[in-house]
Amino acid sequence: YDLRNEDFRDMQELGQGNGGSVKKVEHVPTGTIMAKKIVLIDAKPSVRKQILRELQIMHDCNSEYIISFYGAFISDPNICICMEFMDKGSLDGIYKKIGAIDIDVVAKVALAVLEGLTYLYDVHRIIHRDIKPSNILFNSQGQIKICDFGVSGELINSIADTFVGTSTYMSPERIQGAQYTVKSDVWSLGISLIELALGRFPFSDSDGDSDLSDFEGTLSPSRPLPPKRTQEEKDKKKKRKSKGVSLQGGGMTMSILELLQHIVNEPAPRLTPEGRFPKEADDFVDSCLLKEPDARKTPKDLLKHPWIEHARTTNFDLEAWASTF
Ligand code: ATP
Ligand code: MG
Repeated sequence: YDLRNEDFRDMQELGQGNGGSVKKVEHVPTGTIMAKKIVLIDAKPSVRKQILRELQIMHDCNSEYIISFYGAFISDPNICICMEFMDKGSLDGIYKKIGAIDIDVVAKVALAVLEGLTYLYDVHRIIHRDIKPSNILFNSQGQIKICDFGVSGELINSIADTFVGTSTYMSPERIQGAQYTVKSDVWSLGISLIELALGRFPFSDSDGDSDLSDFEGTLSPSRPLPPKRTQEEKDKKKKRKSKGVSLQGGGMTMSILELLQHIVNEPAPRLTPEGRFPKEADDFVDSCLLKEPDARKTPKDLLKHPWIEHARTTNFDLEAWASTF
């Protein structure tokens, strides 16, 4: 494909993220439906060209677990990335629409993400760096694919320069400044799987024993650490809590700094306390969420986990499931 901005017809806005927006478009000369991501970056033309060169690696990423790439181009001042359109959208959108995801589907998600990560790393030495439900896509054929992986070092740098995200899927070692490894993606997968199985982000104040609810604030990384709350303030907070105000919703949010501290200092979240999930699922999630990266397995090793092997052989019909929403 020789992609030019004037050859596209906008069809539908698919969503907005931190770094830009995604639209469903038609590439008119070929009639191909695509998802076009517009990445807002404030970079010099030379840097933008470098990013474009680096993105070309995506042409060589061919796996049934990875979103296919049609091409990228500069549409001043933005970069547009054109990829395969997934008609059921991302898994965060799906669970927000239909509620907690069936654990058999979650197992299939785990399998697909591990396959995708293993492919990216073994074949291209690419670490994803941004595994989360909004980057796991689903279509009506029942396929599960990952997108938005870190192919371009320059793109990663440019985006890091322009925004400080609410990187709540980030592993403890990353928060503490260690290098990204493929095991950081495994942590993010563990958090994502709990979110899908419970139908809510796992770090929230219905955690019970968590003291996250001692905090509130805005998602601003530059905000100073809050003073310790007095007992009176805590009581007030409890009252609000009992009215069902959640950390993420209802206008109350903890600061990103507080969340990052929690991830580093508190025990990792688990599937177990909430659910009637299979023991293998609990065990798999626990092994993704070992806080010590040396103890955590790689995606390739985790493909041998009993829960994943079972997901591979089960004939749960994802296409039929997709037709229910
Ligand atoms: P962030 O910017 O923090 O990574 P995000 O992943 O939600 O968040 P985008 O990557 O810009 O942000 O994507 C926005 C939304 O567009 C996604 O949540 C997803 O629902 C939708 N989307 C992205 N790519 C596709 C695609 N190829 N097919 C269908 N929908 C897509
Ligand atoms: Mg995304």
